[in-house]
Amino acid sequence: PEPLVELDRLSMHYRVQGGDRSGRLLKAVDGFSLSISPGETVGLVGESGCGKSTVGQIAARLLEPTGGRLRYNGAEMTNASSSERRTLRKQIQYVFQDPYSSLNPSFRIGRLLEEPLRFNRLDGKEERKRRVHAMLERVGLDASYARRYPHELSGGQRQRIGIARALMVDPAFLVLDEPVSALDVSVQAQILNLLKELQAERGLTYLFISHDMNVIHYMSDRVAVMYLGELVELADVDALFDGPKHPYTQALISAIPASGWRERRSASIQALGELPSALSLPPGCRFQTRCPFAHDRCRREAPALAEIGQGHAAACHLYETPGESTLQAANR
Ligand code: SF4
Ligand code: MG
Repeated sequence: PEPLVELDRLSMHYRVQGGDRSGRLLKAVDGFSLSISPGETVGLVGESGCGKSTVGQIAARLLEPTGGRLRYNGAEMTNASSSERRTLRKQIQYVFQDPYSSLNPSFRIGRLLEEPLRFNRLDGKEERKRRVHAMLERVGLDASYARRYPHELSGGQRQRIGIARALMVDPAFLVLDEPVSALDVSVQAQILNLLKELQAERGLTYLFISHDMNVIHYMSDRVAVMYLGELVELADVDALFDGPKHPYTQALISAIPASGWRERRSASIQALGELPSALSLPPGCRFQTRCPFAHDRCRREAPALAEIGQGHAAACHLYETPGESTLQAANR
């Protein structure tokens, strides 16, 4: 099928004040491309600080990229007209990690859910109210919540409101940025299942951002692995978890705690050492300072993302010569 969302060589470079007057260039996102098909969930994973949220915010049009292009439903988003922008604002919604920060604390929930309808001049007063109540019930709450304030709700209830608010205008594409990371483990599965049900009912397309490999595994059809602003591996979820190719993906997977979703950062990733700063990227492969397979070429030359199997791509010199085994390449 034609992709719903196309991110084409996106970059987000910032000038950061440094010692000298010119400042230094922070490459938060650097040449990132990804196509998302209608109805699928692409998981975007990586350590915090690797640029996942920046990609998500660009995809949701909350941030203008400094380079690259975006297409939605085949149409260029980068220079959309104001009426196209209005449509896109309804079609594409963003759900934050902590919806509390995006919910005005002085408004009742009913008003907060009604707001996107009013903003888009949809429906009359009674119809808006009916839709708010129906949505509250759909996300597992009830009409009585319309009269409450955000601070009266638990974290899980607030995230239900965050999701409800995103869905009020009938979007097609949701960017979910760590939607369960702030929640208790017992509540996480409920919210993830709600997201899956809503997707099945409404044919939604998700870009699902998380640093948690268990959550990514549970939610994704395909997985994109990001490291220091770049896409380093892309594959179907089973191919990625059964046979991760990039050494960084391998480390992320071997770091999954057997105990479940509680542990945030595992021994194996910590053993890789510090994540370099995006302000002083290592030369060659950005992963070379932490990679157990790093060799001479890795310090000189950045690997390009290359197809290494059906729908499976990785950016690593180990896979550039067909037929050559990982071990041979690593020992070269
Ligand atoms: Fe490791 Fe080299 Fe591959 Fe980079 S290119 S991930 S340093 S083996
Ligand atoms: Mg983030």
